[in-house]
Amino acid sequence: MKIGFIGLGNMGAPMAANLAKTHDVTGFDTIAKPDGIRLASSATATAKDADVVITMLPNGDILRAVANEIHPAMKQGAIHLDCSTVDVESARAVATQAENHDLQAIDAPVSGGIGGATNGTLTFMAGGPEDAFAKVKPLFDIMGQKAVHCGPAGNGQAAKICNNMILGVTMIATCEAFVLADKLGLDRQAMFDVVSTSSGYSWSMNAYCPAPGIGPQSPADNGYKPGFAADLMLKDLNLSQIAAEAANADTPMGEAARDLYAQFVEQEDGKGQDFSAMLRRFEKRSRT
Ligand code: NAD
Repeated sequence: MKIGFIGLGNMGAPMAANLAKTHDVTGFDTIAKPDGIRLASSATATAKDADVVITMLPNGDILRAVANEIHPAMKQGAIHLDCSTVDVESARAVATQAENHDLQAIDAPVSGGIGGATNGTLTFMAGGPEDAFAKVKPLFDIMGQKAVHCGPAGNGQAAKICNNMILGVTMIATCEAFVLADKLGLDRQAMFDVVSTSSGYSWSMNAYCPAPGIGPQSPADNGYKPGFAADLMLKDLNLSQIAAEAANADTPMGEAARDLYAQFVEQEDGKGQDFSAMLRRFEKRSRT
C-alpha cells in the first residue's frame, strides 16, 4: 500500500516509522523532520499518489485546513485516515468533504500514548464506512494491538472522549479518596488493597495508581513524568464538553473534571506533569 503520513510529531513519527517497515510511506510535517521516513515537500505531494493518507495533527482546525488542501489532490477512492484527537464535528465535516471528493474517511483516534505509538501497541477507536475500516485494518494491526469499529463518521472521536471523560472523573475521585484516607489515618497500601478488590476499583486505581509506591509501576513512581500528560487530559475533557453542549447532554461530572484540570494545568503546576499528579494537588489543599 502507498501511504502518505501528515503530522510527524511525538505520535506520528513512530507510527509512520512502524508502517515504513512494510509499506511505501512518504511523510510531511510543517516543522518536524524525523529520520528514517522519506519526506515530501508538501502535504499535497504526500497525498496525491497515496492509497491511504494518515493525518496525526494537533486539533480540528488544523485537520480541516489540511483536509481542504489534500482532498482535491487525492486519488479517487483513496482513504483519509485521521488518527488525531479532534472534536466530533470536525471529524464529521472532514468525512462529508471526503465523500464529496469521491474519497472515504475514517476517524480513528488512539489511546496508548507515545509508548504505544513506538511499540505498535496502540488502540484505535474508529468511525466511518465498514468497507473502508476493513481496508485500513492491516495498518491498524501494524500500528496497534486493537481496533474497534464504533459506527459511522465521528464515532471514533465520540468513543475516545467518552472514555477519557470517565478516566478524568475516576482519576480525580481516586486522588481525592487517597487524600481523605490520609487524613483519616488510613494507610495507603491498605486503602489500595481494599479498593482495588472492591466496588471502588477502576483503571485509575488498579492499573495506574496515582500514589507512589502503591500498586503496579505508574508515572507516580517516576516523579509524575508523563505518561498521559495533564494537558492532554484537559484537551480531551474540553472536547467532551464541546460535544456535550452540541448534543445537549447533561454531564456535570465531566464539566467539574474539565474545570479542575483547567485550574491544575493553567493556574497551578499541572502543565507538563502526568494527569495522576492531581493527587499532589489535593495533598497541598484542605477544605477551608
Ligand atoms: P505533536 O504536537 O507532537 O505533533 C503534531 C505534529 O503536527 C507536529 O509535529 C506539527 O508540526 C505538525 N503539524 C501541525 N500543523 C501541521 C500542518 N498543517 N501540516 C503538517 N503538519 C502539521 O502532537 P502528538 O503528541 O503527536 O499528538 C498528535 C495527536 O494525537 C493529537 O491530536 C493528540 O491529542 C493525539 N494523542 C496524543 C497522545 C500523546 O500521548 N502524545 C496520545 C493520544 C492521542
